[in-house]
Amino acid sequence: MVTLGLQDVSGASPSTSLPHSWTTSATPNFHTFKDFVQWVEKEQVGLGNPRRLEILEWPFKKEHFHSAVKRWDKTPEGPMATKSLHDTPKTRSPGSTANSRAATQGQWGRAWEVDWFSLASVVCLLLFAPFLVYYFIMACDQYSCSLTAPVLDVATGRARLSDIWARTPSVTKEAAQLYVLWVTFQVLLYVALPDFCHRFLPGYVGGVQEGAVTPAGVVNKYEINGLQAWLITHLLWFANSHFLSWFSPTIIFDNWIPLLWCANGLGYAVSTFAMIKGYFFPTCAEDCKFTGNFFYNYMMGIEFNPRIGKWFDFKLFFNGRPGIVAWTLINLSFAAKQRELHGQVTNAMVLVNVLQAIYVLDFFWNEAWYLKTMDICHDHFGWYLGWGDCVWLPYLYTLQGLYLVYHPVQLSTPYAAGVLLLGLLGYYIFRMANHQKDLFRRTDGRCLIWGRKPRVIECVYTSADGQKHHSKLLASGFWGVARHLNYTGDLMGSLAYCLACGGSHVLPYFYVVYMTILLTHRCLRDEHRCANKYGGDWERYTAAVPHRLLPGVF
Ligand code: NDP
Repeated sequence: MVTLGLQDVSGASPSTSLPHSWTTSATPNFHTFKDFVQWVEKEQVGLGNPRRLEILEWPFKKEHFHSAVKRWDKTPEGPMATKSLHDTPKTRSPGSTANSRAATQGQWGRAWEVDWFSLASVVCLLLFAPFLVYYFIMACDQYSCSLTAPVLDVATGRARLSDIWARTPSVTKEAAQLYVLWVTFQVLLYVALPDFCHRFLPGYVGGVQEGAVTPAGVVNKYEINGLQAWLITHLLWFANSHFLSWFSPTIIFDNWIPLLWCANGLGYAVSTFAMIKGYFFPTCAEDCKFTGNFFYNYMMGIEFNPRIGKWFDFKLFFNGRPGIVAWTLINLSFAAKQRELHGQVTNAMVLVNVLQAIYVLDFFWNEAWYLKTMDICHDHFGWYLGWGDCVWLPYLYTLQGLYLVYHPVQLSTPYAAGVLLLGLLGYYIFRMANHQKDLFRRTDGRCLIWGRKPRVIECVYTSADGQKHHSKLLASGFWGVARHLNYTGDLMGSLAYCLACGGSHVLPYFYVVYMTILLTHRCLRDEHRCANKYGGDWERYTAAVPHRLLPGVF
């Protein structure tokens, strides 16, 4: 192997060895990184290949350069194409094989390039999502959950924006301490307590589990101990409520807005840290994505699976805890507040607590399965997940319980039974659809779906390291009725939580509206990704199962 004197422009040490195929006599001798970049530009190496963007975007980062070169080196078009480029450099056009291959290779994760619509959506979300959360919580606190009253007050001059802001509680020392304690406790449960539930709970999959293959071909290991964290946290909560009395069960409600500022602090801190980490010390540089757009990178994330040490995985921690463990505690605190204020816990509050607890427990019972969902398999970790998990989820997913503190709705028995039935039916479809896909994938199609051998669509795809992989799509059971019936079940459950709040206000219905937008967008996003990943095989699947969410409609 020839060693090239590659001088990093930032002044880092020279003499870096390039992979063999890049150091043939045909390869020019680069004295600076800039030389290399110019050569890449001139020779159009990898034009159409998204990795080129990564190389070019951070010319001063040697690690990125190396990882990009290594990956490039492994791909069939990399070294060979490079060599042939030297032989016949001018015969290769920008639209040739590299481009067409890029469509199927390494392009099935997050986007590499940002269109104007995506960029505008990202900027709007960054600007308005925090404001929206504030507006909802403030409307409950100051206007008994009316969404129109604050606007009318300001429009008619009865209140100024500054009045509303002045009435908003600011962060307090108690809330800050509570929040730090909460997050620290969850971090400890996550990193310091290996799972013991799988040792005694039959059917539960916990302990060390493997995630899916990442676009760079990496398989990460995860410590699945969310159920244990949830159980310990809730046991402590009940022990406190019934025996210890260290704090009031209304503590979360009583500090709700001060805690909002703390949650925002963590949400922004973790998203910013993830962004910096992605640029300067990524866990797996091969799985980073850079679009060249700061806002898009910040929002959608750069690193695929950022970690600290071997086990602290950002996505698994922030997605599951502190937000989802907190969800049921928040509801319990709201129920306690309702009892304190109105002398009883209404059946609507019980319904919301029970249905959402089923959903949360389901999440933790199936945490190992969750490793195979889009959040973990395809989304990079940025503000969307970091801030979303810290703020959006705990504050907006719990709006029904909050609303019921201000409006203690008591439902008629038939209405309550109807809501319960809808919620349970939605949950059943959601769970069974997810279970069928999981069973199908785990057994590689050697299973029974609705008592029969499943209908299988065989697929081939290529990961970014150039490896070919085989996969299967299930086209029977719930996956033969529509392509995302798990989302439909989820939406039915979401509607049930909202209906439990009666019909006098719009605010509790935000959840189902949001979930409809989220899951419809997710469905389109996922299908776009699957179409890129599987190409013609995906088309065969959509021909066999023509509808997405509602058979015959959409
Ligand atoms: P899915 O579990 O539907 O996973 C989609 C992936 O499954 C696809 O990318 C593809 O991945 C694979 N796939 C698609 N079709 C088939 C098929 N026919 N046979 C086998 N595999 C297939 O979606 P999500 O990960 O988005 O969601 C998981 C659950 O989480 C859903 O039930 C959803 O409702 C819920 N959810 C809840 C949210 C909330 O905020 N409450 C937010 C998001 C999700 P591959 O590349 O492996 O082929």
